[in-house]
Amino acid sequence: MIPKLVIVVPCYCEEKVIPITAPLFKEELDLLKEKGLISEDSRILFVDDGSTDNTWHIIEELSQQSDNYSGIRLSRNRGHQNALLAGLMEVRSVCDITISIDCDGQDDVTAMEQMVLAYKQGYEVVYGVRSKRKKDTFLKRITAELFYKLLLAMGAEVVFNHADYRLVSSVVLNEFAGFEEVNLFLRGMFPLVGFSSSKVYYERRERIAGESHYSLSKMFGLAFDGITSLSVKPIRIITVMGLSVAFLSFAMLIYSLIRYFMGATITGWASTVTIICFVSGIHLISLGVIGEYIGKIYMETKRRPRYIISRKTDNALD
Ligand code: UDP
Ligand code: MG
Repeated sequence: MIPKLVIVVPCYCEEKVIPITAPLFKEELDLLKEKGLISEDSRILFVDDGSTDNTWHIIEELSQQSDNYSGIRLSRNRGHQNALLAGLMEVRSVCDITISIDCDGQDDVTAMEQMVLAYKQGYEVVYGVRSKRKKDTFLKRITAELFYKLLLAMGAEVVFNHADYRLVSSVVLNEFAGFEEVNLFLRGMFPLVGFSSSKVYYERRERIAGESHYSLSKMFGLAFDGITSLSVKPIRIITVMGLSVAFLSFAMLIYSLIRYFMGATITGWASTVTIICFVSGIHLISLGVIGEYIGKIYMETKRRPRYIISRKTDNALD
């Protein structure tokens, strides 16, 4: 059977980029069709994440030019992960495989062929892994590497150097639909669904135009969300830290008693203050971490919709 592919592309304020990358996606789609790897009705779905610029207009125009392009628009900006989820959930019943890719041209479209070939060999999930990051700025490269290392150390299962460029079959997506959390960290959630998976390596390029929407603080936010939505290790670290500090204080107590009996109790102001600062610092951090988890629980209990689709192009998915 020849699988039907839908390429899912989340876009937020990308009016400068889409006119350039849309034809690139289509070229690759046509090539895969020519090679008989995917069915003729395979297509590209743009998910406009509530852009405030001309993005939706461009998507509508593209959809009128060719049935290979279609689009949905979210009612407001919900962030990359929610936009991607919206696209994947929208198409899972009308296709056999999906490939998610950013619309800024950073991910090499030619890797799609290897992804589809891996699917044909029986892999249900194929992760696109960046082999080189030469073109990223030094800061971006370092923070990104730190990000993965931190995630792994904190017990979140992620594929090193894999972002959201990946092939997922509709079989996996149908199971994934049962993951109803509002805290999304897709790259860490797909490994939890299971099924056989494989990796395809590609070179990460520079953004074709426009600017990254992930600032340093957003990256940290994403890292923290990733950790807290996939693991409770930070809370365990607090417990261990609490125990160590308690042990240390006990040792200090014995030390002060000995000093007391030796008659040397006047000195020691500096060490007392240091200990007070140290322990209250740890308390505050611990409260913060626990608070983050409680905040997440609060958001989850509301069960608000993760995205709302406000518009679809006329040809949107049949
Ligand atoms: N994006 C989105 N919603 C947002 C921010 C970004 O859909 O709120 C899209 C964006 O258009 C792009 C992808 O997510 O296709 C990745 O974003 P970006 O290139 O800014 O991140 P980076 O590659 O720098 O990590
Ligand atoms: Mg990018």
